[in-house]
Amino acid sequence: MKLPTDPAANLAALIRCASVTPAEGGALGALEDMLKPLGFSVERPVFSEDGTPDIENLYARRSGNGPHLMFAGHTDVVPVGDEAAWTHPPFAADIANGEMYGRGAVDMKGGIACFIAAVARHVEENGGPKGSVSLLITGDEEGPAINGTTKLLEWAAGKGEKWDASIVGEPTNPDALGDMIKIGRRGSLSGSVVVNGRQGHAAYPQLADNPVRGLMSLVDALLYPAFDEGTKDFQATNLEVTSIDVGNPATNVIPAKATATFNIRFNDTWTAETIQAEIHNRLDQAAGRTKYRPGKKTPVDYDIVWRDRPSHVFLTRDDRLIETLSQSVKTAIGRKPALSTSGGTSDARFIKDYCPVVEFGLVGKTMHMVDERVALADLETLTQIYQRFIEDWFERGAA
Ligand SMILES: [Zn+2]
Repeated sequence: MKLPTDPAANLAALIRCASVTPAEGGALGALEDMLKPLGFSVERPVFSEDGTPDIENLYARRSGNGPHLMFAGHTDVVPVGDEAAWTHPPFAADIANGEMYGRGAVDMKGGIACFIAAVARHVEENGGPKGSVSLLITGDEEGPAINGTTKLLEWAAGKGEKWDASIVGEPTNPDALGDMIKIGRRGSLSGSVVVNGRQGHAAYPQLADNPVRGLMSLVDALLYPAFDEGTKDFQATNLEVTSIDVGNPATNVIPAKATATFNIRFNDTWTAETIQAEIHNRLDQAAGRTKYRPGKKTPVDYDIVWRDRPSHVFLTRDDRLIETLSQSVKTAIGRKPALSTSGGTSDARFIKDYCPVVEFGLVGKTMHMVDERVALADLETLTQIYQRFIEDWFERGAA
């Protein structure tokens, strides 16, 4: 039987499935076809929740005596955008000048294709790892992420699944394969500050309370001083005001309400709770300032509304996992990757509650863009890195 040892063939099969979130598009079926001949048992649980589309997911395990390594990722992809702008159709897996084109080529069907090829080569050459390997694949990473990784982890853990380490195959490399392993992520939190004023005539401000004046003080307090200067492992915490809304079409009317919305990316100096408390504190102090509200006796009347769930900050400290992966990259590329916590959030933030997790995949340059594509040479190199990692990690055992 021909095993799925060729990452380009695996990737082509996946790209040809139009799995734009929330559609499964045949992608999980294609994965199942690759995994079964390798001895994986495959389950495809569907999760639902009111107000969100049902999502099909995949959990596959190849059981063995020894530690348990989980590879995590997603087969859903973002929309293609302007299809006419693509040099090659987004679901055709055309190859030109040594690159394969298609939506999901790097984010992240390519990473999955390479990992499966790595396991297949290991099975072919060594009979398979001395332990268990599982793939935890969601169809809901690029969408609301409600019926995906979180529920899949709970579902698998509920069946008694336990993992010793996880690698997420997101495209972590900014420019070239081997640049960067992500060993943690900053936390993220969004909220809106709503200032309640009193509407009035712009010529009679003493009869009104302009909420824009109050909001100026509050926003100022959010932006200055800096929350911290960064830590050994993380960039400085940063708050961006993403919108200021008054919605007032008249120039002679003082509005009744003004809103500022912000997003903060915080490092391990903070938790979601302490950063929220700090923001409350800053706003309360600023509400009493009269710089922009001379003569006003009462503090700024404001509410804060937190949006969504916070993403918690995390840092993986499993030296064996990180060192084994770094060394595998060095063997293939000749240099050690940077260990980074930069960038946005990923599903690793959910996995970290179950086992140590790192992220390493392809080069992210074209992700979410028209003409998303991957160098065939990168597919081969990433497969070699994953294979080396699997061999060495199982050899060394879990921490
Ligand atoms: Zn992704």
